[in-house]
Amino acid sequence: MPASQPSAATEEDGAVESCDVCIVGAGITGLNALFVASRYLERDQKVILVDRRQRVGGMWVDTYPYVRLHQPHGLFTAGNIKWTLGQDRSYLATKDEVLGHFDHCLDIIKQRVRVEERFGWALESDDESDAMVRITCKSSDGRRLVVHAKQLIKAYGLRIVANDPLEISSTRVRSVSPDLCDMRGDDMRASDAPVWIIGGGKTAMDTAHTLVTEYPGREVNLVAGSGTYFNSRDRLFPAGARRWWGGTPVSGLAQEATRRFDGTNETDVGDWFRAGYGTWLTPTTGNYLFGNLSEAENTTIAAGLNDIIMDHLVDVVDRDGVTDLVLRSGSTKAVRPGSWIVNCTGYVLHNDHPYEPYASDKGAVLSIQPRSATMHLTSLTGYFLPHLLFLDKIRNVPLYELDLQELRKKSKTVLPYAMLSLVEHNLSLIADSVPTKVFLDCGLDLDRWYPLPRRMVSTARFMLTHRREREHHRHTLDTLRERFNIRCGPLTKAGC
Ligand SMILES: Cc1cc2nc3c(=O)[nH]c(=O)nc-3n(C[C@H](O)[C@H](O)[C@H](O)COP(=O)(O)OP(=O)(O)OC[C@H]3O[C@@H](n4cnc5c(N)ncnc54)[C@H](O)[C@@H]3O)c2cc1C
Repeated sequence: MPASQPSAATEEDGAVESCDVCIVGAGITGLNALFVASRYLERDQKVILVDRRQRVGGMWVDTYPYVRLHQPHGLFTAGNIKWTLGQDRSYLATKDEVLGHFDHCLDIIKQRVRVEERFGWALESDDESDAMVRITCKSSDGRRLVVHAKQLIKAYGLRIVANDPLEISSTRVRSVSPDLCDMRGDDMRASDAPVWIIGGGKTAMDTAHTLVTEYPGREVNLVAGSGTYFNSRDRLFPAGARRWWGGTPVSGLAQEATRRFDGTNETDVGDWFRAGYGTWLTPTTGNYLFGNLSEAENTTIAAGLNDIIMDHLVDVVDRDGVTDLVLRSGSTKAVRPGSWIVNCTGYVLHNDHPYEPYASDKGAVLSIQPRSATMHLTSLTGYFLPHLLFLDKIRNVPLYELDLQELRKKSKTVLPYAMLSLVEHNLSLIADSVPTKVFLDCGLDLDRWYPLPRRMVSTARFMLTHRREREHHRHTLDTLRERFNIRCGPLTKAGC
């Protein structure tokens, strides 16, 4: 019987509503959870979708306006919902197009289940009793809302928020954040001052690419930290007929990487991965976090940059009539007054949040965030874990949880390979616990880039080997737990 009731009841301190499922977070993770919920609920059952932002889309709502999807657009969706752009399959969608697809996904899902949006509301607390979860939310203007739900999915993702400009001492340069200052905007266009991009990851590459293509001849420089390498998009997602014979399906690559990784040899695995499948433009590449870049983008950026500094910016100071970048190594670099300092230092895992398990003790609350990650991507977690929740298996399948926040503090180098071992281990368990259709309906599966016969080869390989390899992944993850003294293992009961 649906839990949906008219929302007229009032607790003394705010409105009270009830629903079957409450999902907090309307980014790609929340929308995947919503898609899955719509597969299990009846047409007249109700989902309340809560987000502190004012619309669906999550971080895409606030990040810089020239951001584009870095994988082919069809592979970024909720469940198996198709895009309606009518573009070539290798097209990289713009921010507006991504947000448009979020709207489309929500419309499609609403055809299967009742969804009520509560945008502009933040979850403050949740309390699980035997029969229901009591969720307290607060609006930005201080109103309170209590939701009674049978199940709660907290689809927080990586909790990305827009970046502020870097705080610097100099008054002679302009410190800006790409989230607040469009590189294609009037101010940047009207100026011919040099630009210093601080950072070397995806945002830095998007920013550099935008600047060097919008303003040919403009002085654009990069302070690239330890440097970053990216997946070569050409090798992972070859365009045209090469999909039939070229490239490497991502699942096979992840399998091979995790076969090689034993919890101690991340440098060797990284060297192998980078040499075979990477692309980069900095002399060193201390970072990698699954970003994609094409060889053409790489060449354009490299050709358009004036200077690349392999160091970390500490401050920009004015002294003795000179304006200097002050770098972590102790060296300095004089810059022209009026230069732009663009904060591209990244968003991922920058803030501390308290630990919570991915599933509550009683099994009615699912929480998708980095302190108890079960997969490398939150979007994929938002798809698979709700299946376990609705199949009533969320506490029974002994998935490993990994504290990515703590691991990142201890080693950024090991992070991507640890994440791959985690997802390989857990997908192996999930494959034994859910109907095959769950995998078939997963539109986030990057192997979908390739024609069906090639995908079938990958699937067959996974089915034949995953149980055997699970032991190796478990051993790798156990090694990481011991080596870094981090939370990495199956869920424990509260108090244990
Ligand atoms: C600059 C940048 C570019 C990226 N580009 C790509 C890309 O091209 N392809 C790709 O696959 N990935 C990309 N990523 C990774 C990206 O973060 C994810 O793909 C994805 O969109 C994250 O979705 P999410 O739903 O997990 O999190 P989010 O998009 O952050 O959504 C989580 C939502 O939960 C809400 N929320 C959190 N806590 C509360 C609370 N207490 N109460 C109410 N609401 C709450 C937030 O307001 C937010 O809207 C990029 C990341 C960055 C930073």
